[in-house]
Amino acid sequence: LLEMNHIKKSFDGQGVLKDISLAVEEGEIVSIIGPSGSGKSTLLRCATMLERMDSGELLYLGEKAAWNGPDGTAVYAGKEKQKEIQGNYGLVFQNFNLFPHYNVLKNIIDAPIHVQKRKSEEAVREAYDLLRKMGLEDKAEAYPCQLSGGQCQRVAIARALALNPKILFFDEPTSALDPELTGEVLKVIRSLADLQITMVIVTHEMAFARDISDRVIFMADGLIVEEGTPEEVFASNNERTQNFLGRYG
Ligand code: ATP
Ligand code: MG
Repeated sequence: LLEMNHIKKSFDGQGVLKDISLAVEEGEIVSIIGPSGSGKSTLLRCATMLERMDSGELLYLGEKAAWNGPDGTAVYAGKEKQKEIQGNYGLVFQNFNLFPHYNVLKNIIDAPIHVQKRKSEEAVREAYDLLRKMGLEDKAEAYPCQLSGGQCQRVAIARALALNPKILFFDEPTSALDPELTGEVLKVIRSLADLQITMVIVTHEMAFARDISDRVIFMADGLIVEEGTPEEVFASNNERTQNFLGRYG
């Protein structure tokens, strides 16, 4: 579904992603863990074209979104093609990024109606369906400022799902939340796993990563240090992995 080959990215001459290759298969749940500054968010931003990589190859469903040009730097597909490719994925950030002046329902149906040109009644029906799944059926009319952080994050997840993405990216979806609100968001993400939605999750919640993932990727210093099943990575003998897990696990 997603393929990233030899991704490199520097900021101000400082290598942040140093030759990262990663493939995600349909239905797979992949967690990315690693110390602060190791490049996890940058990797997600490159995967979703929010950030331009310097070089490397990015493919969705076998279609090239970016590749290396003759001079070895990344060339991106045209605007139209990029839009089409972007339709494959959704993104949920740490800070929700809801529209504050739209109520919950409008936050969810805005893109399906205006970007995907879906029928309004259909979008509304699906939005209520999603709100029910998120345990928020009574919050359709509420504004983001009237919700708890956990509720906001569940709306953000509903909003991402409303676009029917094939793959969902999460960047520390619970790190802005109090511990008691973290649980409700993790529960919702877990319920998506049961729906067989492909997910890539950057998280500091080690127990969650261990529990939900098909595969865990440990990043440090812009490199994938280790990759495997949760059992393999969490029982690793690698010194850096052990050090990191010792601090967080
Ligand atoms: P955290 O766990 O704290 O979220 P991370 O693994 O997500 O960390 P990144 O946000 O990817 O790390 O950052 C990796 C490195 O790249 C850091 O040293 C950061 O300062 C640098 N960096 C990220 N974005 C930019 C930017 N837009 N401009 C300059 N440097 C950046
Ligand atoms: Mg980050």
